[in-house]
Amino acid sequence: MHVCVLGAGIVGLATAWQLQREGHQVTVIDRAAPGAGASGGNGAQLSYSYVQPLADPSIWTQLPKLLLSPSSPLKLRPQLDPLQWRWGMEFLAACNARTSRDTTEKLLVLAASSRAGFEAMRADIAPDCDFSATGKLVLYASSASLEGARAQLELQRALGSEQRLVTPGECIAIEPALSSYRGQMAGAVYTPSECAADCLKVCAELMRALSARGVRFMLGADIHGFARSENRIAAVRTSEGDVQADAFVMALGSASHKLGRVLGAYLPVYPLKGYSITVEVDPAPGAAPSVSVTDSARKVVFARIGSRLRVAGMAELVGHDASIPAARIETLAAATRAVFPNASRLEELSPWTGMRPATPKGLPIIGRLESAPSNMLFNTGHGALGFTLAFGSALKIAQALQA
Ligand SMILES: Cc1cc2nc3c(=O)[nH]c(=O)nc-3n(C[C@H](O)[C@H](O)[C@H](O)COP(=O)(O)OP(=O)(O)OC[C@H]3O[C@@H](n4cnc5c(N)ncnc54)[C@H](O)[C@@H]3O)c2cc1C
Repeated sequence: MHVCVLGAGIVGLATAWQLQREGHQVTVIDRAAPGAGASGGNGAQLSYSYVQPLADPSIWTQLPKLLLSPSSPLKLRPQLDPLQWRWGMEFLAACNARTSRDTTEKLLVLAASSRAGFEAMRADIAPDCDFSATGKLVLYASSASLEGARAQLELQRALGSEQRLVTPGECIAIEPALSSYRGQMAGAVYTPSECAADCLKVCAELMRALSARGVRFMLGADIHGFARSENRIAAVRTSEGDVQADAFVMALGSASHKLGRVLGAYLPVYPLKGYSITVEVDPAPGAAPSVSVTDSARKVVFARIGSRLRVAGMAELVGHDASIPAARIETLAAATRAVFPNASRLEELSPWTGMRPATPKGLPIIGRLESAPSNMLFNTGHGALGFTLAFGSALKIAQALQA
């Protein structure tokens, strides 16, 4: 079967890898280079066990502070966009314990299959992508917040995640670069099996390997519509001409809602903007972390990728505004100075922004939709976990194609 994958982010490329492996003829279309969207400068964490959705009951107590504080990592700029309002209402409706538990359960299953998929891909193409499997610490600043994390930990542990609470002393034994941050930590959740890698490099390596296997890449092709034939898509319309195929997979990240609407399908995918910096680290032992660290009070994540440290955070509902305010970058630099004062001289920050393709519940949309043509499959809405979930989602798409 000839399958056309729309989008060359990590989700589209993982899909292309899976489909090519199963013997399909594959074409990948993107208006930019692989990984140029949300995948390029993301937090680099393969967070297979730590999948807590943003739509969580704790939002109700945190929301006023998160929205009103000038230094808040969360920002809302109301738009004249019905999707933003509808998405917001659906998000708030999902902020309850039952939905959060159900989402966590589904994400853990998908993440486990994605771990296996990522490992199969690594064995297959041996990508040069700064992969590490050094575990993750999620730091809590107060005993109350640590206690609050216990419930999620117990839920994730009951569902198979290998996690435990650790004291500040144990944190430092696990990650010596945290030694000067001891006074700011009440403790942490430690997940030894978490991994990290440079998602942009994974994207580039997938393109290299797939091109060599005959996958056709049409880059610089802007997708603007579809040619229909009854309840099927005959071709996708691009700035470089029409492309015909037997089936199509929409993996357009935060642009999916717009193109979904062209097909008559409602995809509740809204851009949740975030930022990152990437800095060269001091190679001296104990200066920079090798374990991934999330500072839950600052809502900032740190991941080691080779000789660099990726620092990422913030969540803004501001539409598709891709500007990078200097204050946001300074917040990430300040967090790095505070948590890991010896890690880097912070000379070159490589500021970046990206749009998480977020659904209200935090569950991706994978497979066919009744409202859309039968040969169009969707693989989108992976929110804050697209790198983690990409290979599990790709497997689900391959299975759906056979159904
Ligand atoms: C700050 C930040 C930190 C993050 N940290 C992590 C993390 O640590 N771990 C994790 O698992 N996930 C993380 N994520 C989430 C993850 O990066 C995303 O979920 C993932 O990149 C989504 O991949 P995608 O392929 O769906 O979308 P994208 O990477 O955005 O790809 C979509 C592609 O579609 C193309 N496209 C769009 N419209 C058109 C069009 N009309 N025509 C042609 N092409 C088009 C774009 O050019 C783009 O290449 C983070 C995200 C952000 C923003």
